[in-house]
Amino acid sequence: MIEIARIPVLSDNYVWLVHEPGSGETTVIDPAVAEPVLAEAERRGWRITQIWNTHWHPDHTGGNAAIKASTGARVTGPAAEAARIPTLDRTVSEGDRVTLGGVEADVLEVPAHTAGHIAYHLPGEQAAFVGDTLFAMGCGRLFEGTAEQMHANLQRLAALPPETRVYCAHEYTLSNARFAVTVEPENEDLRGRFAAVEAARAAGEPTVPTTIGLERATNPFMRAASAAELAERRTAKDNFRG
Ligand SMILES: [Zn+2]
Repeated sequence: MIEIARIPVLSDNYVWLVHEPGSGETTVIDPAVAEPVLAEAERRGWRITQIWNTHWHPDHTGGNAAIKASTGARVTGPAAEAARIPTLDRTVSEGDRVTLGGVEADVLEVPAHTAGHIAYHLPGEQAAFVGDTLFAMGCGRLFEGTAEQMHANLQRLAALPPETRVYCAHEYTLSNARFAVTVEPENEDLRGRFAAVEAARAAGEPTVPTTIGLERATNPFMRAASAAELAERRTAKDNFRG
């Protein structure tokens, strides 16, 4: 059974530290920066042995070099973005399997936010690290891909077991909720979640991880009936001030 620590950095990023007690291995998912990650690992007595990147954006890879220099960690990331992540030791693509001690993670290609974006699904742990593809009640912006791709990604993630915990890379939940209730004002699950999220954020509490089941019930992007509907909602969210 893995242990997972959330490290809030920059304005709204979450870096995830994943520890596998059996082997003593620890991986860092998407280190935006190095110092708070090294400090948290030190505080917990966890030795960082790996780094897993979901995509090339600097707020997901900026800490790679310093963590690698400090710990000797092996860095894994998307083959399709290797040229943009010079610190990689191993490149992976769809169907590859990455291990953390006795725990296995399947690599899923989920392009759209960036052209080579990947997610790490740990079926035995019922956990998925999705970077900037799926957020609580939201999805990533379409910087390097299409609504068709994002629609396919979200349908694929929606098909994971509903209890799967989803570790997103940003705390965007309140903004996403404000938009989501304008899309589905009659959705009771969504209204209830919006109230819970408002209370959590007012108390300074995080709202991530979420679960696949919760997103299926309340996420207007995952619930879009078609790529065209997702595209319409994504454009509306890009222009939403709420
Ligand atoms: Zn990004």
